[in-house]
Amino acid sequence: MSNHLFDEILARISDPDKVFLETLDGATLTYQEVLDRSAQFANALVSLGVAPDDRVAVQVEKTPEALMLYLATVRAGAVFLPLNTAYTPAEIGYFLNDAEPKVFVCDPSRAEELQTQSERAGAKLVTLDGEGQGSLRELADTASTVIEDAARDPGDLAAILYTSGTTGRSKGAMLSHENLASNSRTLVDYWRFTGKDVLLHALPIFHTHGLFVATNVTLMAGGSLLFLPKFDLDAVLRLLPRATAMMGVPTFYIRLLGSKAFDKELVSQMRLFISGSAPLSAEVHREFRERTGHAILERYGMTETNMNTSNPYEGERRAGTVGFPLPGVGLRIVDPQTGHPVPDGDVGVIEVKGANVFKGYWRMPEKTEEEFRSDGYFVTGDMGRIDERGYVSIVGRDKDLIISGGFNVYPAEVEALIDELPGVGECAVIGVPHPDFGEGVVAVLAAKPGDIVTPENVRGALAGSLAKFKQPKKVHVVDALPRNTMGKIQKNVLRDRYRGDFS
Ligand code: AMP
Repeated sequence: MSNHLFDEILARISDPDKVFLETLDGATLTYQEVLDRSAQFANALVSLGVAPDDRVAVQVEKTPEALMLYLATVRAGAVFLPLNTAYTPAEIGYFLNDAEPKVFVCDPSRAEELQTQSERAGAKLVTLDGEGQGSLRELADTASTVIEDAARDPGDLAAILYTSGTTGRSKGAMLSHENLASNSRTLVDYWRFTGKDVLLHALPIFHTHGLFVATNVTLMAGGSLLFLPKFDLDAVLRLLPRATAMMGVPTFYIRLLGSKAFDKELVSQMRLFISGSAPLSAEVHREFRERTGHAILERYGMTETNMNTSNPYEGERRAGTVGFPLPGVGLRIVDPQTGHPVPDGDVGVIEVKGANVFKGYWRMPEKTEEEFRSDGYFVTGDMGRIDERGYVSIVGRDKDLIISGGFNVYPAEVEALIDELPGVGECAVIGVPHPDFGEGVVAVLAAKPGDIVTPENVRGALAGSLAKFKQPKKVHVVDALPRNTMGKIQKNVLRDRYRGDFS
């Protein structure tokens, strides 16, 4: 019987003894063990009553067992629902009530406080800890390695991932087997992944980037993972000489550049550095290239759509852009008010369509309808433009757009100029209420370690290069910008912090 996603990502096992994954302590998991362990976890889930279409909610540390649990859920025909390890019990309560999973897997240290929430939502609670031990592991250890995978069609649900939801309620994006499989096929091909690849995996696995992009692509190509529980600079520097590829968020690359030990020699056998989930500044791109000879390949995606665009494997990887629409992805830039495409080169909202785009928001039909056009395009909420050569750039989320004195200010334009100033490590440009202009432009930045930047320098340097309405009226220099676990700058936190700047 065919289980679409599982068959697609594990169809090419030519050598069952090949190592799929190695952890920091040198423990390994071969492809045969992936098949056996995921079957055992799948049988454990079935023994807990999990049937096709049931949700399996999971809030656990990053371990090989957690990855097996993902594959097991797919094999059991159920819907994998990973949750950020930073979520509080109250937040978990919301997700459990909303998703009504059959099983909830959490760290044993949280089992007691989450038991009631879990029961209330009708879920059986089992545990898995940061060492891969717990009551679920015990069930799996004694379960059979033989399983008949649940039959799943391309359109059946494989996962629900809740969006980070910085405004309003978090929404569950429903991803089908084919949403995931098609994107993986495209990326393996576009980024030239093969069985020879060794991917340094330091991303979390509760998010699309580390879970689907990194894991599915490596499995589908028959490659290997160097599997780190998190980004640890020393461990990454130690393992880089054994890797051929790395996927990261911009902060990973900024941190690598901050280390003197990070040089050309160390990455001589690497073939590809990929960045995404947040904007990579042109400055970091340039510095990285100077230091290592590698042009980081930046791509753009989101939970709802998997990956949409990528800089080319061969050909120019243009700093500050996210490249071209991937094969099979329709992408257009429209006027947010009229919904009509904007003239070439103008800024508008990015809309995408393709086999990669999700099926809608879990139990939110109105929200789903609002965000899809009648011709099937999904409104991403990201503002962007396409340059004369077809490269797409992101200028910010539509809700981050600043309207000052009636004029649009795209934060990315101002941020790019500030990033170039000597001594600037990172920056964010936001709009906060202003009595005369509606919103006033505010820049928040952190200096590079050991450097000093003053607000006066920044304002002076920008005066000649930006129209007055785009120039920050206030500049704050801070130690570090608030970022979430995916390295995204939390502009909502900054807007709250500085909302009194002009009052
Ligand atoms: P998430 O659903 O958590 O993956 O977040 C998706 C959002 O991250 C997108 O809608 C973009 O706003 C942002 N994003 C992802 N990749 C990039 C990129 N390369 N450059 C700029 N923003 C990005």
